[in-house]
Amino acid sequence: TTLEDWARSDEYHNSFLLEVDDVLDTALVNSTAKGLPDIAVSAAQGKFLKLLASSTAAKRILEVGTLGGYSTIWLGRALPEGGKLITLELDSKHAEVAQENLARAGLSSKVEVILGPAIESLAKLQPEPPFDLVFIDADKPSNTQYFIEAKRLVRKGGVIIVDNVVRNGSVSDPALSDPSLEGVRELLKAIQGDKEVDATTIGTTGEKGYDGFLYAIRR
Ligand code: SAM
Repeated sequence: TTLEDWARSDEYHNSFLLEVDDVLDTALVNSTAKGLPDIAVSAAQGKFLKLLASSTAAKRILEVGTLGGYSTIWLGRALPEGGKLITLELDSKHAEVAQENLARAGLSSKVEVILGPAIESLAKLQPEPPFDLVFIDADKPSNTQYFIEAKRLVRKGGVIIVDNVVRNGSVSDPALSDPSLEGVRELLKAIQGDKEVDATTIGTTGEKGYDGFLYAIRR
């Protein structure tokens, strides 16, 4: 099976389950036009994040890694009146494009984009009131640090998702190594035996390739 087959499968399923969405399409077009890399979650993954936020009735969401705000829009749409999403981004250009896309989505009042190294921004956040859902999707070598902060900031029973933990199967291939792979491996080792979370990996293979989300619940 090739990326083309996975993309066709996504397209097929999306044609039944996802509506045509000008705001999200425009967010991607604008991001590309402004030179941002094409590394946002897929539409099907974005919809999953939105459904997850809805089904957990998330009122406070934290995102690490904003890019152009594509996943932010999906998550932000699940927020009720008075809900809040904080998203952390290192690159000022990315943050600026995200603000534009979020404004077009009508989400500026619910979403706060915090510019700077996520590890510094996270250290300044307080667990009161706690977050219901954390989505970690930034520099992979820092996964474990982000995960530790997420555990501190999320409520008991809250959910932490980490993107790109399968990486075309390369994470599990002992012959391979690079800082991103090692970042995922280090996270898995840190979670092994950690009584504060209960976790599994969910494959997310589709138009973005063979990959997965780590899905953890705070105990
Ligand atoms: N979540 C986005 C989406 O699906 O639409 C994609 C995020 S992209 C994969 C990763 C983002 O993390 C990039 O915009 C990058 O600039 C940002 N990033 C990288 N290192 C960071 C750091 N140390 N602190 C905060 N953000 C960082």
